[in-house]
Amino acid sequence: MKFAELGVNTPEDLLAHIPRAYRDWREPMPIASLREGEAIVVGRVLRVKERKGRGRFQLVTAALQDDTGVIEAKWFGQRYLAGKLSPGDKLFVAGRVIRTGLLREINVGAHKLLRENERYEGEIVPVYAATKELPTRMIRNAIAKNLDRLIAQHTDALPPALVRRFNFPPLAKAWRDVHAPHDLEQIARARERIIFDEFFTVALAAAVKRARREAAGGARPLMRPNGFWDAFTAELPFAPTGAQQRVIDRIWTDMERTAPMNRLLQGDVGSGKTLVAAAAIVLAHKGGVQSALMAPTEILAAQHAAKLAPLLIPFGVTVEAVFGSQGARQRRNAEDRIRSGEAALAVGTHALLTESVTFADLGLVVIDEQHRFGVNQRMQLRGKGGAAHTLSMTATPIPRTLAQTKYADMDVSIIDELPPGRTPIQTFVIRASRKHEVYEFVRKNVELGRQAYVVASAIDAAERDDNDDDAADDHNGSQKKKRPPGPPLITATEEADRLKNTVFPDLRVDLIHGRMTPREKDAVMDRFKRGETDVLVSTTVVEVGVDVPNASVMVVLDAHRYGLAQLHQLRGRVGRGVAESFCILVPPEDAGEIERLHVLEQTADGFEIAEADLRLRKAGELGGTAQAGDAETIGNIVDDFAVYMRAKEAADDIVARDPDLSAPEHRPLLALLNESASARAMLVTA
Ligand code: ADP
Ligand code: MG
Repeated sequence: MKFAELGVNTPEDLLAHIPRAYRDWREPMPIASLREGEAIVVGRVLRVKERKGRGRFQLVTAALQDDTGVIEAKWFGQRYLAGKLSPGDKLFVAGRVIRTGLLREINVGAHKLLRENERYEGEIVPVYAATKELPTRMIRNAIAKNLDRLIAQHTDALPPALVRRFNFPPLAKAWRDVHAPHDLEQIARARERIIFDEFFTVALAAAVKRARREAAGGARPLMRPNGFWDAFTAELPFAPTGAQQRVIDRIWTDMERTAPMNRLLQGDVGSGKTLVAAAAIVLAHKGGVQSALMAPTEILAAQHAAKLAPLLIPFGVTVEAVFGSQGARQRRNAEDRIRSGEAALAVGTHALLTESVTFADLGLVVIDEQHRFGVNQRMQLRGKGGAAHTLSMTATPIPRTLAQTKYADMDVSIIDELPPGRTPIQTFVIRASRKHEVYEFVRKNVELGRQAYVVASAIDAAERDDNDDDAADDHNGSQKKKRPPGPPLITATEEADRLKNTVFPDLRVDLIHGRMTPREKDAVMDRFKRGETDVLVSTTVVEVGVDVPNASVMVVLDAHRYGLAQLHQLRGRVGRGVAESFCILVPPEDAGEIERLHVLEQTADGFEIAEADLRLRKAGELGGTAQAGDAETIGNIVDDFAVYMRAKEAADDIVARDPDLSAPEHRPLLALLNESASARAMLVTA
């Protein structure tokens, strides 16, 4: 019901809905000492005035007196108060003191009538994130009433030695201190204990998983022959960058072991991940095993096949493509060659996961844009090769903080250097009222022989109105946002029509979006690649990594709708050739919070942008759970990173000594892993 809106769906969620603030209502303040600001007062009512205004307006005023002075207390719009207060009553009030002229008054937020000989019992009052329908008072009552029962459901699984080492309160006490504190100092310690446990659970799952992988072994050790680096680079059209060389060396070292590689390669768009993948594939081929490369869309998979072929052919690596849109005969032939081992590399989309695709001996799996695939899909592909070495690649920079948590069970490598000869992209934020100038600028570039992208966040009016997720959907579910109020979103279809008919009647304008068939999309992309289109209007379906070096302008309409990381990705589609390139972000006139867009004007560093995005989104996702929907955590990985690192060290230490957690004092930890959704997700992830 109303709780769901706060992300509270289970009793555990309710317990984990910890206060966002506390009011210290322990000691009433002497009236004479009151300054402007929050205050609590206990006093006697001297006189009461009630004023009924028009409509719902109602004002109750009471003069309150204690041993030190008198103050006017005011209640606005509280009809039920009528007739409830009388001179002589003993009253507690909490509210905000303001100064009106010479007089002070207190606008009452909460009050309590005290019986004649009742003493005021001071307390610290928790304030919860609340909604209009579910005010903090109702949440407070729901939690207070059930607190013992909620706490009883949690076992304290931390080994006692660890609790002692960090001088933590017991878990039950920590929960109680957070929801019903007696002392403000306890709260911080209690919260730290709770988030330590939360982080520890995920870190422990990652460590256990890593240990299991190491223990299981089973991967084919692929040794590099002497002089392999020189032999490899001799056949390349360019010299690898230092970053590429370093990363390839790490990957080759991983592949020499019997523990299957599980490495995540991060590199900004255009950083040259394809070459790194090629290096892994060539070593696999030398070692006599096949490779599979899976990409999220046909456009991307086809581009991989095209880019890899010239790098691989000199080493005798034969490539087969497997797409959903292939004809039956072509598909059968490809599958035959993969099954027989004749094909050394299979490149494709999800179609690779089909049962009919089997390998003679699959030893290496490469997954591009790995976050676009579900856990099960990644496992399914690896499953076709026993314990295959796995290289996951992403152009979405993952900030250090998240890399430590979400991908805690993977080894992470970063390509932090772009190939030489790139011109930096200039980025501007321009409000929609100046869109005509933006399009004039597009025209100038087209006249210079360049091409442009115009990105809209919805396909057409139907999509905009009933499900306007396209912007978020294509990339990263966690960036999904409710549509902010404001003018309706610009749709790709309408904008394409307008550009064709009114703005650029003399230019070649084309349209691509996610509801077109793969064949239609390919046709549009092919025309754009061949330079037969000047301006391509698209939804975010224009994939990360699509490479059209002649495209030099990227216009993003309704730019306020996107996360910074996603805008950075979109921007990466230009600046791939020698031409000076531009990215123009166009938020609507009245969109609020567009300051963040200016981050993109200032930096091209994907990691910096991702970190900024994370901060802005206050990301709280942990473990594999991010894939199963946005899991809320109490700890915030950015702000509580120090706690995370301590928890991780503790977890690593335990697993190093007791990899299967079989020691008696570690038994409860196995149950802990079982109870935690984040931990379970981490453990099943391939
Ligand atoms: P990513 O997949 O990381 O976005 P690509 O592998 O597609 O990037 O590389 C981007 C472009 O840079 C390609 O055209 C590629 O040929 C080129 N490239 C890659 N490595 C180098 C290098 N060391 N020197 C020069 N050009 C390179
Ligand atoms: Mg790529």
